[in-house]
Amino acid sequence: MKAAVYRGAHKIKIEKVPEPEVKGRRVLAKFRGGSICGTDMHFYRGEWALKKGRILGHDACGVREDTVVRAVMVPITNCGHCYFCLRGIPSQCTKAKHYGLTSDGFFAESKAMLPRSLIHLPDNVADKEAAIVEEQ
Ligand SMILES: [Zn+2]
Ligand SMILES: [Zn+2]
Repeated sequence: MKAAVYRGAHKIKIEKVPEPEVKGRRVLAKFRGGSICGTDMHFYRGEWALKKGRILGHDACGVREDTVVRAVMVPITNCGHCYFCLRGIPSQCTKAKHYGLTSDGFFAESKAMLPRSLIHLPDNVADKEAAIVEEQ
């Protein structure tokens, strides 16, 4: 599949990358729309460090392959079992995955995701509107 890959300041390339592995409870989300965040611009300009080879993008929406339902793709997945997660403060999770930052992001044709990281969209919300939700 194709993805937007970070190759350094001012170097974002559309490259062929391996198809995502759909393991465990994960489902495939097919990309429908995304937006470029201020965070992405810091990476692009070389102001903030990002690992070369990282797939960019953390503001996006897609469609679940299994249910064919459109959904906002949640950019942070908390672990669910650390000190903070067990106390109901998932935003402070120490083992969270931050897609497009510490883990490959959403600017790819598809992404394997946990169902809880896909929030169903009502029909009256367009893909381009859903792409800026950045729900956490
Ligand atoms: Zn953002
Ligand atoms: Zn946690």
